[in-house]
Amino acid sequence: MNALSFLLVTAVLLSACPAVVAGKADHPAKLMAHFGALQGGVGKKNIDKVKIISGPAPVEMLNDKSPGQVWQASLGTVKFKITIQDATRVRIEECFERLQKLPPAYRAILPIVSEGDKAGLALYAKLGGAAAHGSQDYLNVVPTAGAQVILHEAGHILEQRVTSVRPDTLERWKKAIADDKVSVSAYGDQVAHEDLAEFSLVYAACLDAGAARLAELQKMSPKRFALWADILKTAPTLPPPQKKGHAGKRGK
Ligand SMILES: [Zn+2]
Repeated sequence: MNALSFLLVTAVLLSACPAVVAGKADHPAKLMAHFGALQGGVGKKNIDKVKIISGPAPVEMLNDKSPGQVWQASLGTVKFKITIQDATRVRIEECFERLQKLPPAYRAILPIVSEGDKAGLALYAKLGGAAAHGSQDYLNVVPTAGAQVILHEAGHILEQRVTSVRPDTLERWKKAIADDKVSVSAYGDQVAHEDLAEFSLVYAACLDAGAARLAELQKMSPKRFALWADILKTAPTLPPPQKKGHAGKRGK
């Protein structure tokens, strides 16, 4: 990714969580900057394409009951929903490229946010100034939010799924941050679950860039690396939590 793209991605991510932008300017952004140039290449080797299984069917958007359309779709082996608010005027085909860029290991987020009455990938014209909101209950994005934004939200989705059975996950992540003694980004410095989401994006970029870059990330942030690899592997194997707890409500 070139410098401009990196700045744009950073700006988009910052806009996703405006409440945590301020402060910590003295804490240098390390991993995101170090590996930021890789992000433009995310998904270039992927060959699977999104296919529409059925739809559209009219639906009320979960956020505000406004009119929208929902489709059932597939990508590789995963099946999921795409919901588009009519006000966006976005054609469903415009969603495909960003999804096709997700590393296969990250596609598990799509069925998770499509369970039961959830809306899957949901496009809204506006999200109160944010680019996206992600939790294991929803993946809401604005029309301009690209693959990098989704890869950040993937961190929230997968962490929350694992936290539902391992409530100490974020405490372990805080310890990993302290042990690794390196920052992912100024944005992530604000709070542990955002650090994790930022790491999700950096890991995805390294995953697509090949074994050497992945090994480099592992060397620079070994505790986060091990914990995130475990979350990425474990989350898709877990069923939805029976009761919505705190973790199910958090997300941005
Ligand atoms: Zn976030």
